Amino acid sequence: MTTVLENREELLKELFPEDVLKFSDELSDGELEFLRQLVELLETKYRKDLNDHWANATVPEGFFEDMGKLGYYTNPLLYEGREGAFGPSQHFQFMFAYTLARFDVSLNTLLGVHSGLGFNTFLFGGNKEQKEKYILPLATHELRTCFALTEPDHGSDVAWGLETEARQEGDKWILNGSKRWIGGANVADVIPVFARDAETGKPRAFIVRREQEGVDIDVIQNKIALKIVPNCDITLTNVEVLEEDRLENITRFRDIAKILYSTRAGVAYMATGAMAGALQATLKYVTEREQFGKKISNYQLVQEKLAMMQSNLTNAMALSARIAKLQEEGKYDEVATSIGKMSNALRLRETVAMGRGICGGNGILVENDIARFFGDAEAVFTYEGTHEINALVIGRAMTGVSAFN
Ligand SMILES: Cc1cc2nc3c(=O)[nH]c(=O)nc-3n(C[C@H](O)[C@H](O)[C@H](O)COP(=O)(O)OP(=O)(O)OC[C@H]3O[C@@H](n4cnc5c(N)ncnc54)[C@H](O)[C@@H]3O)c2cc1C
Repeated sequence: MTTVLENREELLKELFPEDVLKFSDELSDGELEFLRQLVELLETKYRKDLNDHWANATVPEGFFEDMGKLGYYTNPLLYEGREGAFGPSQHFQFMFAYTLARFDVSLNTLLGVHSGLGFNTFLFGGNKEQKEKYILPLATHELRTCFALTEPDHGSDVAWGLETEARQEGDKWILNGSKRWIGGANVADVIPVFARDAETGKPRAFIVRREQEGVDIDVIQNKIALKIVPNCDITLTNVEVLEEDRLENITRFRDIAKILYSTRAGVAYMATGAMAGALQATLKYVTEREQFGKKISNYQLVQEKLAMMQSNLTNAMALSARIAKLQEEGKYDEVATSIGKMSNALRLRETVAMGRGICGGNGILVENDIARFFGDAEAVFTYEGTHEINALVIGRAMTGVSAFN
């Protein structure tokens, strides 16, 4: 039975009041109903302690399990009119990341590293048996994964400088090296680790288990952004992995790049949602705070900044929606996703700074949501390709010249 929402218009206004150009109108009734359930869950169960979790760098209990139950990949509501499709529509994926990031960027990141980078490593890199074994349990959250590429000495240049080494000995591989920043590695069941084949110098990917001998995981402390996300250092000392746990279809750096640029759009969506969250927090503040005898929302200089924030958001939504459409049609490329990520992250930084300024001194207190978005924007600016690295991807396509080194 297909969902028909009697109150569609009111629901759209209630859920997405900031969506001036009505991109949310393109959601099906089933998708909209799903997002309604998501917002209800987030607001009723997770809103109350959210800022405390950020301040204390703790993960809200049950969040990953709740998202699995909601089934953002498997829920029949997302397949109405697209029965037999491999996944939910790209437009839904945009609006889902948007809605979650509008609530909290850390929670969206936690999910994104599992269902985007990690999941796609299995999807693109796995052979038939590996896909049969892992794809469904990962999609339903029965199993949890992450993405272990970056190293302490190699971030932007990791494709060029990957140091973690894999040495083949008969039907097994011995892994040695270190990984840094790996989101959710401390709770992952299966960790895809990228390493360089000691013999051929070619990249490889391996399924490593958290509890395996030789695997040490430490959560990085004292971050000023995405504090809810446990980012980890992983040390691998003579870790043994069977050949059957090598992700067979990852043999070139182009294979890794494909995973990165397929999920980069997700970061563009996330940056858009974060702008909406910053705008919501700021709007709340200006309608409560009084100075010179009036609500600060009365002042032209404040309204100009609110209008700039709204305008940045609207531009980012338009860019995200177009990228989602191209992804749906299979026409996306790395230039489109790099532009989306670079541009939306840049606008996000500007938007949260304006919101933070409007909230005055209270804007630096974690108990006010704007402070959380302000901090988190810095991580979004840096991960999944820094501003400069995405600019170099775009510049290479424009000029035909690679200026990375
Ligand atoms: C919160 C967070 C979560 C993350 N999660 C993960 C994860 O789950 N898995 C994972 O594998 N990685 C993860 N990362 C790593 C992330 O992808 C890297 O931080 C990113 O690639 C940048 O690398 P770096 O931090 O080492 O900076 P560097 O590469 O050292 O860059 C430092 C500065 O130099 C600039 N720069 C570098 N090269 C050039 C150049 N050629 N031209 C111009 N400027 C240049 C950069 O743009 C940047 O401004 C995460 C990072 C963060 C902060």
